[in-house]
Amino acid sequence: MRHHAVIASSNPGKLIEIKRLLNPLGFDLSNQDELGLDPPPETGLTFIENALAKARAASRATGLPALADDSGLEVDALGGAPGVHSARFAGSQGNDQANIAKLLAELESRKTPDRRARFRCLIVYLPHAAHPAPLIADGTWEGLIGMQPCGTQGFGYDPIFYLPRHGCTAAELSAADKDRLSHRGQALRKLCALLRATTDPGRHATADTCRGISR
Ligand code: IMP
Repeated sequence: MRHHAVIASSNPGKLIEIKRLLNPLGFDLSNQDELGLDPPPETGLTFIENALAKARAASRATGLPALADDSGLEVDALGGAPGVHSARFAGSQGNDQANIAKLLAELESRKTPDRRARFRCLIVYLPHAAHPAPLIADGTWEGLIGMQPCGTQGFGYDPIFYLPRHGCTAAELSAADKDRLSHRGQALRKLCALLRATTDPGRHATADTCRGISR
């Protein structure tokens, strides 16, 4: 049995990754642009506030279960910025090259050797807009900010997210390796475990579809 849900995101990079991870598990996912939805403003101070607002708006507008991902990059030397403002760090929403250029310039201006950073991902699954207990899962991916962009895979800050253990950036990983390591892959695997464990009979079928997922 397939399960229809709406993904409350307009970010093409995220949509590719979420669909890649969840489609084989029995989810038919429509994205909010396909359904003509306008996303709510992201005014929250935290990933969870933004993810919940996005999921609730999409579920309310469609009557479907909704899945939302709010994610971002935290850079230690910048006090955790850009954080929840990662998508629009350089001003306009989703301009990856401008965001990367601004981040590298800010680090350069601080003349710091501290390049530590992490991606965070917060995923919310809301069975319906008024549901009082959404499923919530998170993931964190540690790395360093590289000196210059490298690689062409992925999206967003991937070309400057350097993984010392792998000797490459996130934009040089294969799709399968990024899914295995990334904040989003971690969060989606946890979400599937929560779906499996839920006692809500309305969700059992969905939970069954997650049985095959591996950690
Ligand atoms: P939002 O969650 O739609 O507000 O935006 C998240 C932003 O964080 C994206 O637009 C990217 O700039 C960044 N981001 C989140 N996840 C990733 C990732 O896996 N790789 C690179 N950048 C990411």
